[in-house]
Formats: sequence, C-alpha cells, structure tokens
Amino acid sequence: AEKILKIRDLSTSFFTEDGKVNAVDSVSFDVEDGEIFGIVGESGSGKSVTALSVIDLIDSPGRITGGEIWYRNPDLADEFRDSKPDAVDGEFVDIRRLPEGVRRSLRGPSFSMIFQDPMSSFNPSITVGEQIAEAVEAQQRARSNPRSTRSRTQGYGLGSYIVDTLVPSQDYVSEESMDRAVELLEQVGIPDPEDRAHEYPHQFSGGMLQRAMIAQALAGEPDILIADEPTTALDVTIQAQILNLLRDLQEEEDMSILMITHNLGVIARMCDRVGVMYAGEIVERGTLEDIFENSVHPYTEGLLGSIPDLDAPSARLEPISGNVPSLLESEMPNACFFADRCPKAMNDCLTRIPEYDVDDRHSVRCVLAEREFDPTDAVEAPEV
Ligand code: SF4
Ligand code: MG
Repeated sequence: AEKILKIRDLSTSFFTEDGKVNAVDSVSFDVEDGEIFGIVGESGSGKSVTALSVIDLIDSPGRITGGEIWYRNPDLADEFRDSKPDAVDGEFVDIRRLPEGVRRSLRGPSFSMIFQDPMSSFNPSITVGEQIAEAVEAQQRARSNPRSTRSRTQGYGLGSYIVDTLVPSQDYVSEESMDRAVELLEQVGIPDPEDRAHEYPHQFSGGMLQRAMIAQALAGEPDILIADEPTTALDVTIQAQILNLLRDLQEEEDMSILMITHNLGVIARMCDRVGVMYAGEIVERGTLEDIFENSVHPYTEGLLGSIPDLDAPSARLEPISGNVPSLLESEMPNACFFADRCPKAMNDCLTRIPEYDVDDRHSVRCVLAEREFDPTDAVEAPEV
C-alpha cells in the first residue's frame, strides 16, 4: 500500500521550570493507506504527545523541536512546489513547513481526532446534532477559505481544533448541514438519529456520546483518524462495539487510523502494524507478527509477558519492575533508556543510545538486534 504519512525523527519537548522534558524523542514511523497503525505504551511514554504533535496541537510550554511530518497530498504539493520547495517531496508535503493557516485547515479534512472522554468534546448547551452540523460547515469553510475565527464549540475538545474556522456571528446551522449530521449519526450506529440529533450531550450514554464524537470527527471525511485511547473510559461490551465500529468505518471510508492505546488487546484486535513506545522513543516497530511473535526488544517482551490473555478486553500493560527514566534532558543518560529495568542489559547498553534495524519492516532500538545476549557481559540491574 502507498504511504499517507511519513513521520521522521519527530521530537517534542516541554519547557518546564525544572528544565527541558523530552516527551517525544526522534520518533519515526509510516502510516499506509487504509491501515490501522497502533502506538502502544504505558502512560507517560509519549504516545499521546506523539499524536498531538502529528495533528499540530502541542501547546505551550510544549513545542515540536525537530523532525518532519510528511503527508501525501498532491494538491498541496503542487501548490507549494515552487514557493516552498523544502516543504515538498513528490506528492508529499512536510506539514511543519507549511504556513499556519494551511496547517490549521488540515484539521478535519485531512486529520481528525477522537479522545477518551467524549463529554469534554461537546458543548453541553448545544444539541449534539447542531455541533456535528457545525463541524460539517467548518469543514466546508476550511476547504474553501481557511481562516481563523471562533465558534460556539471553541474550547470543547474537537471544537477547540476543528471548528475554529467557523464564522463567529453564525449561531445557527443550515438544514443541509443538519441533514448531513443526521446521516453521520446514523452511520455511527445511533438509533433514531433524527430524534437524537436534537438532544443534548447529557442525554446520551457514554457509548452513544463516543459514537457521536466519532461522527463529528468524520464530518470532514479525514484521510487519517487519530484515536487516542478511544475506548478506555467505556465498559467492556461497549468497548468492543466501538472498536468494531471504528474498523467498519475505516473500511467504508477508506481512511487510515492512528490508534493510541495502552491496551495490547486493542492492538491485537485492531492494528496492522504497531510501534511500542517507551520513555519517548519507539523502541520496536513492526507488523503484529513481528511484535507478538518475533519481538526482540526486552521491553516488548516484558509487556507481552505481563499479559495473561491477549483476548481479554482488559489486556492492560502491567508495569514492569524498575523505574522509568526521568525525561528531563539534563538527567537523561547516554545509554539505553530501558537499561535500569532490562534483564538483558550488557555493558554495551550503558555507553550509548542504541539504534538498530532488523530490516525496514521490523525496527528495534536495542543492541540485541545486533548481538546475542552474553551473560558474561551482563550488568547487574541496580536495586530499585
Ligand atoms: Fe536491554 Fe540493552 Fe536492549 Fe536496552 S539495549 S533494551 S538495556 S538489551
Ligand atoms: Mg495519553
């Protein structure tokens, strides 16, 4: 399949009182047309920050500090080929090098995002249907005339990044947009969508509101849907329904999904390929088979070993013993970040940050990709 997204050496840091925190450190991965690419990791591993960086939603004190986000879009490539040659490579544009207004106009028609908590994505005082209709109109305006204005859903999750292209004086939505909203509600499996469209967010159950948020995210017919822990807040039966819905929509709409989760069961069930994140780095990346059956990195192995039954919907990551390193730049070791917790740490691992590929498809950041574990060279893991 062709690639739709090529992330190269993406780094995002937060500039805090204590110093520079490297939340995402030189992360690279591709997303292909029509695939579900998963990023899995413990909380604090940098997976959400990676997602927010891709969609350009990192706020102060955070900032993307390096790397490239190549997005395949022949129209944009043609538009900027002469004026910004650095930003164009064939049919791809490096989003980071595009003007801000253009970057913003990509949110919705190119990239869309759903979050863990649908309640925070809706304005409680506007009907669900109207809010989805606003997203529909915002997309239409974004396509024809990208510009920054505010809407009534400004500040509410999706609204805070998608619907900021609405004309401010507008406090109603057209009948056509409302019809489209009803269609979208129907597409995500909401019963009686004509009636439900006129209800307020608090009248929806958690699962139904999650569906409505997905409908809102689909309003712009995105190429890439970023789903950040989309089912974490839901009970098990509803989780399964939402995951099935996302997979169906991915096929119907022929979009790609970037799935962020701490749940390896979700990865096993949904994804084509996966990147395992640890301490801001992707430590291993490959197909499901590479990761679940031929993993090399001891962190990946630890994660897999900590899960009794992959089919169990609550296959969550159990912490592996030992400490996650500080991500403060001043405290980060020039060594493998996993060395403190790694049962196979060797002296080699303490002198540099490893970066080795098994092959293009299966990439591993570990010296074990290059040499076998040698017990005589092992370092004693420090007591925790
Ligand atoms: Fe363990 Fe060394 Fe691999 Fe790091 S590089 S994960 S310490 S074996
Ligand atoms: Mg998160």
